[in-house]
Amino acid sequence: MNPLDLLFAENLRRAGIPHAFTTRRGGVSPPPFDSLNLGRGVHDDSANVARNRAAILRAIGIDPSRHVEASQVHGATVAVVTARDAAGVIEGADGMVTSAPGLALAIHAADCVPVLLADPRRRVVAAVHAGWRGSAAGIALEAVGVLADRFESRAEDLLVAIGPAIKACHYEVDEPVFDRYRDWPWRDELFAPNARGRWQLDLQAVNRRQLMDAGVPAAQIEVLEHCTFDRPDLFFSYRRDRETGRMGAIIALSD
Ligand SMILES: [Zn+2]
Repeated sequence: MNPLDLLFAENLRRAGIPHAFTTRRGGVSPPPFDSLNLGRGVHDDSANVARNRAAILRAIGIDPSRHVEASQVHGATVAVVTARDAAGVIEGADGMVTSAPGLALAIHAADCVPVLLADPRRRVVAAVHAGWRGSAAGIALEAVGVLADRFESRAEDLLVAIGPAIKACHYEVDEPVFDRYRDWPWRDELFAPNARGRWQLDLQAVNRRQLMDAGVPAAQIEVLEHCTFDRPDLFFSYRRDRETGRMGAIIALSD
């Protein structure tokens, strides 16, 4: 695999946290999953997914068997996982937290927001899948809460990377979505009304705002400013292509 097929966050890299946001490049899956598909729930051969996953994990220095993923049900459940969960799928979760060295947490998306978090002081990492439902339910806040409650993490110590996602330029949402955010005080700032009576929503900004409100310093939140819809050469996009693959966001603690 060409290292250029993966994207990295500068803040996590500086802290020595193994991680990656994958693109669609560098894998073995055929169209329409070409080529670095990591999604289980699509009509790609699971052997392709396994090969793609192993290549990525090796590229970031993680044993391919030491991998755990969330089933992703568009909820706000963040599970604490341990070495015993390796090679498994955490049912009912959209986020995972671990303090186990060498265990890779992986979430998958094709437009939804992947969020990676690390606390270098307490030696704990987290990965979150935040679509519009999970973001409305505050899953990023939930991750900060689990880190605090279970690992004594302080929000001001967290490093956060918000990965490629569909951006406001291509993410139109309707009234039921707008309504679901009614209790968030910043809703009208982050939903831009459009000429069709709907809204353009910036889900990366939603997650960044939630994390800042939780006490994570803005300077410690890095946003990878890519719109998945805009770059068919680089990213899968469900809204653009429907039948397509899934990118991964992966994080681990070094051994
Ligand atoms: Zn766009």
